[in-house]
Amino acid sequence: MASSEDKKVEMFFLPWIVARGHMIPMIDAARLFASYGVKVTILTTHDNLQLFQNGVDRDRSLGRDIDFLTFELPEGCENLLSIFTINWNEEQLFIEKLREPIEQILRDRRPDCLVSDMFYPWTAESGARLGIPRIVFHVTGLFPSCCEEATRRHAPQHKVDSDKATFALPGLPNPNHNIEFTRLKMPSFHTTEPKGAKLAEAIVDAELKSHGVIINSYYNLEAPYAEYFKNDMGRKLWLVGPVFLFNKNYEEKAQRGENNSIDGVTILNWLDTKEPKSVLYVSFGSQVRMAPEQFFVLAEALEASGHSFIWVARYMPESGEHEEEGSGRRVLPEGFEERMTKSGKGLIVRSWAPQLLILEHRAMGGFMTHCGWNSTVEGICACLPMITWPLAAEQFFIESLVVDVLKTGIRVGNEEWMALHWEPKVTVTREKVETAVKRLMGGGGEVEEMRRRARELSEKANKAVEPGGSSDADVVGLINELKSCRK
Ligand code: UDP
Repeated sequence: MASSEDKKVEMFFLPWIVARGHMIPMIDAARLFASYGVKVTILTTHDNLQLFQNGVDRDRSLGRDIDFLTFELPEGCENLLSIFTINWNEEQLFIEKLREPIEQILRDRRPDCLVSDMFYPWTAESGARLGIPRIVFHVTGLFPSCCEEATRRHAPQHKVDSDKATFALPGLPNPNHNIEFTRLKMPSFHTTEPKGAKLAEAIVDAELKSHGVIINSYYNLEAPYAEYFKNDMGRKLWLVGPVFLFNKNYEEKAQRGENNSIDGVTILNWLDTKEPKSVLYVSFGSQVRMAPEQFFVLAEALEASGHSFIWVARYMPESGEHEEEGSGRRVLPEGFEERMTKSGKGLIVRSWAPQLLILEHRAMGGFMTHCGWNSTVEGICACLPMITWPLAAEQFFIESLVVDVLKTGIRVGNEEWMALHWEPKVTVTREKVETAVKRLMGGGGEVEEMRRRARELSEKANKAVEPGGSSDADVVGLINELKSCRK
């Protein structure tokens, strides 16, 4: 008779159903664990399943034990799905409402562990009650997590007398790096919106009660911060990334998280006509809420720079509005798109681009990014120097990692954090954008040095996920630990 140790380890993955930037890496991680022989179940809604079905079907055809289990959204939740309009109270209500359907599944199926997005803090309590280890999956890196912790512990933002006064984050490793912030660059739950702090506290609390944390990063990208996270913050940690590297072939890279508004072949053909390292990729991730005038300014600056670019001019609609209506607010200068198309200088993607395919093309010379964690790591692995333009969430912390610590990018100079549900405004001038684009795409020693550093980090990322690499070892280590938890 097979012992309980011989039985396949069964892991459930629960991605945050509202945000692509949370779903994409968690699905990649789920697929990664399935490739190590784990029985994997992804819990999500029917709508979200459609976006990831192909990849999972391909894995199943290779004999991997991976599937979805869908749950219904509780009544009244549909209109809470737009994070651009819901406030902190509604968000907490929404999160709480999802508890019942998900707990029901856990009670029925009792997996060896639940890998949960941080946005379901109650899963720590559910897991403890049901005897199912809850592991948090962080969709951001170690450095931003350590910055959050230092902010919570020392509250330096309350010890300066103006919003623009700079301060350091005490206690972080590597004091030689010039890591400085202002109150204006901090998430509002650290400054002006204490209601948001309640949710942030619940998330940290739940993390402390969890079995451990999986982070989509790799040791050699942020080694001192891995040590801080384990030793100072006292978390059990598995670094299993970069998980996007799990996507190897064209189909996997071309189809991630959303239907493309331009197909991969068209975009690659366009890139094939360009010189190596000559094109700037401009994208602000999956949730973009820029002021219409800011789009205008960006368009003017890109044109004035004279460099070639692909720009994903995505704009998330307000709730109840179709995306194309939202796109009306992406105001572009008169004749801009026609001029760019005619001259072949610019390709404007309306909504969603096959980012991984684009980044790895030899014509790519730089990446203007909002510093979402996924995009940042994808850019580094593509050996690209970056222009950082953080907007919301923990993106200003990630900007600091790129510019101050890793030194693979330059700042565009955005000084103001904005919550996604705030009315967006112009915060970066045309001059700043144009100067940054010319500096990065103009090349020269400074940029070559950034490229060299990124190349080194990219090589380390690829080594980390190979057999015997640090991320491979952490995946195996976690699976073994889950086996031993059964005893
Ligand atoms: N992405 C993409 N095409 C797009 C925009 C985004 O494939 O047009 C992917 C991108 O490669 C990344 C994710 O969506 O994996 C965005 O995550 P990130 O953490 O960078 O930003 P967020 O959307 O969470 O702000």
